[in-house]
Amino acid sequence: MSQRVDLAVLGSGPAGMAAAVAARRHGLSVALFDEQEGPGGQIYRGIESAEAGRTAILGPDYAAGRPLAAAFRASGATHHPRATVWRIGEDGLSWTSPDGGGEIEAGRVVVAGGAMERPFPVKGWTLPGVMTAGAAQILLKSAGRVADDAVFIGCGPLLALVATQYLKAGVRIRAILDTTQPRSGMAALGHLPAALAAPAALAKGIGMLARIAASQVKVFRRVEKVELLGEARLSAVRWRGPDGWHEIATERAFLHQGVIPNVNTTMAAGCRHVWDERQLSFRPETDDFGRTSLDWLLAAGDGAGIAGAKAAALSGALAGHAAAHDLGRLDAAGLETLARPLIRARRRELALRPFLDTLYRPAQAMRVPQDDDVVVCRCEEVLRGDVARAVAEGCPGPNQLKSFTRAGMGPCQGRLCGHTIVETIAALSGAEPEAVGYYRIRMPMKPVTVGDIVGPTILKEENHG
Ligand SMILES: Cc1cc2nc3c(=O)[nH]c(=O)nc-3n(C[C@H](O)[C@H](O)[C@H](O)COP(=O)(O)OP(=O)(O)OC[C@H]3O[C@@H](n4cnc5c(N)ncnc54)[C@H](O)[C@@H]3O)c2cc1C
Repeated sequence: MSQRVDLAVLGSGPAGMAAAVAARRHGLSVALFDEQEGPGGQIYRGIESAEAGRTAILGPDYAAGRPLAAAFRASGATHHPRATVWRIGEDGLSWTSPDGGGEIEAGRVVVAGGAMERPFPVKGWTLPGVMTAGAAQILLKSAGRVADDAVFIGCGPLLALVATQYLKAGVRIRAILDTTQPRSGMAALGHLPAALAAPAALAKGIGMLARIAASQVKVFRRVEKVELLGEARLSAVRWRGPDGWHEIATERAFLHQGVIPNVNTTMAAGCRHVWDERQLSFRPETDDFGRTSLDWLLAAGDGAGIAGAKAAALSGALAGHAAAHDLGRLDAAGLETLARPLIRARRRELALRPFLDTLYRPAQAMRVPQDDDVVVCRCEEVLRGDVARAVAEGCPGPNQLKSFTRAGMGPCQGRLCGHTIVETIAALSGAEPEAVGYYRIRMPMKPVTVGDIVGPTILKEENHG
């Protein structure tokens, strides 16, 4: 092992940056790794290089990332950009990057790998011209690229956010197909009193919906079924609403039905996970500080349960302070004093979640495909019909399904299909998702070369011939 630090952090979003800054306050040596060029994660992507025009389009929440990125830069933590972490363990982690990878020993590891967009397995979702709303936002954030006349399909705060950012940028939106379930509005009302503890976030959401309503964009509500049509690429969207089937010609569709924790890293590490029925996803089991069932591993941010950017920064700071405590650099009283206001502030941020999670609970028909010709595993082109056949032949779970169909054995290692497969098997077998379980993820959790794994040793030997 070449280097050693007290704390290794995976992810430079709000959680990762806050964890690094907090740990540095106690003099810990910190190394942070992220695939991206600069710090920022999903929400603050490209924040350091974003010019005023783009920042204005992306809004104040985006601009709020600047001071955190600056604090991270000033913290003295070592930043490893363009670094993909492919292994984590009690001894530390391994990464690969265009500048050459390596391994690092660490006393503690904070995984702040963030969230990913929930899969949207409907007919035609793999067609060219179809992407997620988050991907469209990434193009806007990182390259200022937008597309006119797209059809936005789905539900959830991020879909509304990207649509309003598009409207602010003066981009034409062809239509919005809203898949919010009518009855979820009623169910969410029960959580509204608690949500009033986060008035600013609630007002922001209402503001986005008002902006869309005031625009010329046609919004179709209560969409129950969606089909994306086309041969070589998307040519039309077909949907069933309360008044029957409709169709609209378009070459571009942006799908979104919420975000889920990116659990592959914590799953590969082997810490305990629970099924969160309200968020319809697995997440690592953690305490208030992000400590997992493995004493060397902490999880923070949306990778530990969807809570949003502000809560992510708060949980990152809690994890950074806890790592200092657990490494003997901060006493219990000191930790408790630092933690109290952070936990209180996070509770306020979390007050809105039950309302949002219930209001924008994606319909089962949009999570668990009904038609046999729908692709569920994009890497291996496994269809819903293949899964149904395997379950009918007695396949109990995702790991057995691998041998039946190769689902989850492609380059993404099940990251993109994991939750669809779990819920599809649960729906077909009548078992609970928790009982079905998730893929057993092994290292390397990201595609790497043999050279990355065996590192410089082989290369040196070759040179010496
Ligand atoms: C596409 C997308 C767009 C979003 N946009 C917004 C938005 O505009 N506004 C908003 O409020 N919320 C947005 N969210 C929600 C977002 O999850 C949170 O707001 C916030 O970014 C969570 O912070 P975090 O620190 O937990 O994770 P992130 O900010 O997601 O940061 C995690 C970082 O870890 C990196 N990473 C993950 N795995 C590895 C690995 N193996 N090796 C190296 N690096 C790795 C990722 O590249 C990322 O940079 C978005 C979510 C997604 C998925």
